[in-house]
Amino acid sequence: MQALVYTGTEKLEYKEFKDPNLIKGESIIKVSASGICGSDMHAYHGKDERRIPPLILGHEVSGIIEKGDKKGKKVVLNPLITCGKCYYCINGREHLCGKRVLLGMNRPIERQGCFAELVLTPDKNIYELPSGLDIKQAPIAEPTAVALHAIELGKESSKKSLEESRILVIGGGAIGLLCALILEKYKKCKEITLIETNKKRLKVCGDHLESKTLSSEDLKINDGSFDLVLDTVGLEITRQNSIKWVDAGGVIIHIGLSQPSGNFNFRKATLQEVTFIGTYCYTNKNFKDTLHLLSNHILGKLDWIEYRELKKGADAFKEIHDGTCSAPKIILIP
Ligand SMILES: [Zn+2]
Ligand SMILES: [Zn+2]
Repeated sequence: MQALVYTGTEKLEYKEFKDPNLIKGESIIKVSASGICGSDMHAYHGKDERRIPPLILGHEVSGIIEKGDKKGKKVVLNPLITCGKCYYCINGREHLCGKRVLLGMNRPIERQGCFAELVLTPDKNIYELPSGLDIKQAPIAEPTAVALHAIELGKESSKKSLEESRILVIGGGAIGLLCALILEKYKKCKEITLIETNKKRLKVCGDHLESKTLSSEDLKINDGSFDLVLDTVGLEITRQNSIKWVDAGGVIIHIGLSQPSGNFNFRKATLQEVTFIGTYCYTNKNFKDTLHLLSNHILGKLDWIEYRELKKGADAFKEIHDGTCSAPKIILIP
């Protein structure tokens, strides 16, 4: 098959790669579409110890079963592969399974990703494509599930109801925009603000949201202005802003992880009882709920997604890297 192979830091080559071999309990999917995720970018920059070249990246994927029990079915994949037996797996928190792996990783074990014509995946990770969801848009299910999970965590931990909360979303990439869309269109929140540094991307967010959208430059946010802050960027500066802008008793949900450590105002967190929650991926239930949201068009038009040919995927990575890309999400088509 042809695949976009990550061959070294900031290097991707579209070339011949060995076809996956079918094994028991799994299926081979002919890829229809696959999205570029922030974590793929992280790997591309050579900063992910679980993704070592040569490797096919990519885990946001839809397609048609080519080999397997349900041959010919249109599907979307939950790329998070878990053991199914541990405490977390049997209690609906599969994403915390100690044995979890994701498609497009090769440490501790190899699972080739989906920037390719074919991908092998366990049958239990395959979801039938719901009617109403376009197969080319379907890879957006994965980041949407990440956003939904983060919001559900925020909801569980807040003393105020989401509807009456003043909410700030930091970052207008796919996760930030999806958080704002879920809060606005599904959770019916009224007071949402989204901030983003890239002006082009900010405009795309503004065109799809009724929420306030602000450029990070012309910000005049008073301390303690928000009950819930979703940091989808995860830089030291965005964490410092989060703790500054959150009100007493408020909640910070930390989704992005651009810088894994740094200073933080623990004094305010302590004296004002601020809850800080890190969040990662989603549960199987979040993934199912997401398919329902998307197939019923609850989040509005998904025309902010841009499509590129898989064979030109290296250019798309470069554009995201250079910051010249305004689309919150690029999906590659083989
Ligand atoms: Zn992703
Ligand atoms: Zn497990």
